[in-house]
Amino acid sequence: MAEKFKNYIGGKWVDAKSGKTFESRMPADWSKIVGLFPKSNKDDVDEAVNAAKKAFKEWKRMPVAKRGALLGKVGDIMVKRKEEIALLMTQEMGKIMKEARGDTQEGIDTAYYAFGEGRRFFGKTSPSELQNKVAITFLCPIGVAGLISPWNFPIAIPTWKMFPALLSGNTVVLKPSSDTPALASKLVEIIIEAGFPAGVVNLVHGPGSTVGNAILDNKDIGVVSFTGSSEVGRHIASVCGKTLKRVSLELGGKNAQIVLDDADIDLSVEGVLFGAFGTAGQRCTATSRLILQEGIHDKLVEKLVKRAESMKIGKPWDEASDVGPVINESSLKKILGYVDIGKNEGAKLMCGGYRYTEGDCKNGWFVKPTVFTGVKPGMRIEQEEIFGPVLSVIKVKSFEEAIDVLNGVEYGLSSSIYTKDLNLAFKAVEEIDTGITYVNGPTIGAECHMPFGGTKNTGNGHREGGWTAYEIFTEQKTVYIDYSGKLQKAQIDVTIEK
Ligand code: NAP
Ligand code: MG
Repeated sequence: MAEKFKNYIGGKWVDAKSGKTFESRMPADWSKIVGLFPKSNKDDVDEAVNAAKKAFKEWKRMPVAKRGALLGKVGDIMVKRKEEIALLMTQEMGKIMKEARGDTQEGIDTAYYAFGEGRRFFGKTSPSELQNKVAITFLCPIGVAGLISPWNFPIAIPTWKMFPALLSGNTVVLKPSSDTPALASKLVEIIIEAGFPAGVVNLVHGPGSTVGNAILDNKDIGVVSFTGSSEVGRHIASVCGKTLKRVSLELGGKNAQIVLDDADIDLSVEGVLFGAFGTAGQRCTATSRLILQEGIHDKLVEKLVKRAESMKIGKPWDEASDVGPVINESSLKKILGYVDIGKNEGAKLMCGGYRYTEGDCKNGWFVKPTVFTGVKPGMRIEQEEIFGPVLSVIKVKSFEEAIDVLNGVEYGLSSSIYTKDLNLAFKAVEEIDTGITYVNGPTIGAECHMPFGGTKNTGNGHREGGWTAYEIFTEQKTVYIDYSGKLQKAQIDVTIEK
């Protein structure tokens, strides 16, 4: 019998009001069920928002250092339970063990960063334009935050949203991806263990179309933080636009690695293997395009294809596996559909391009690492996010052409350039239009204390991570204190009285 999970609302584990459930299954073996989860709807969301609204009154009054201390405790518990979380992640989401530990560690680091922020939640002070008057800013919470997260970083991304929101004094309603609900439940279990007051953190499982939309529609939610596809992001922005909710969007990518003729070829191959096939290509920062200068092209492709072919596909909880499954059947179909599109567009399939079913992989959604060469700018496989282990190689003549190709997509999340030429590296940093750029490193691998997000259709200008995440979840309050004892008129005349 599959384990039955619940929502967490107002400090209690509860079923969906509809009484309905949905399943979470393992991508590496679809015959196995992780658990049954409440298929919630608007009624459950509204109850969660009411609980969060009620809890906000007290939570915002708790000193920020104390809120930080609670988040530090969350970090401590996550450290103790890291292996257990990582193992569940290999089962429910399908990333390999090493990456699952990394995803969990990102959550731990984010908790400790929040702990530190509790002691440096600084506003600014400024001299006034008038005498005997001072100006100060405070960071204030917004209220109830609605958090909608994807499945590909099932621990890290909810923590990127939740911990800054909580430290800032907001209460939250989390709607995790329907593909990774058990991991969200695990995170909430840890939050409960750390001792958060009832109603501060609420969890509502269920489909984006109902639970997600109910969050967008609820008038008591002040800020929505979303990570997922650009398609859903557009919908969210338009709905939140009508009610003037603040909304932060972290969306798709079509990231590229450039390798110039002078680059270290083996280092470049290591980088692209990790960037393109790590997490089976299902990172928003995954390398899905490799832009090679013509002098290095053939030799690099030869090395790359050999290495890609020898990557070990297997059960993600098996420490020896290099590549795990993709998330579900529809994702598998979408990826293989793009392989057909690539072939029809005239690109040359060098390796992979099919579902892998050997050995104990027969019940899972495994895709053999795939490399296309002869890809031309403008082809669909070069422009559209595939979100799987498919790499398109594009040959270019010059540095300038490489930059044009890199920038020639609708997204702007991550990018990378391999070169030993310092001048060209800095020129690339200046010319590339993405939120993140690596020099001599792959497109993946963000650090939690730095801003994370992208330009163009990758988002709407906000950045998660580091100090910038706190800007999403706070209002600035400007306070003037006039100790002159008389009416002083700012904005009327700032010239100094004679
Ligand atoms: P998705 O299909 O857009 O779903 C993301 C979340 O939105 C899920 O919780 C989903 O719920 C929910 N949702 C779906 N329809 C909704 C609606 N109408 N209203 C409100 N919520 C709705 O994305 P995904 O497949 O989970 O994740 C992959 C995508 O995320 C890729 O495009 C990737 O590039 C992007 N991503 C971006 C970043 C970044 O920081 N830029 C990081 C990671 C991933 P259900 O699960 O119930 O459908
Ligand atoms: Mg599943």
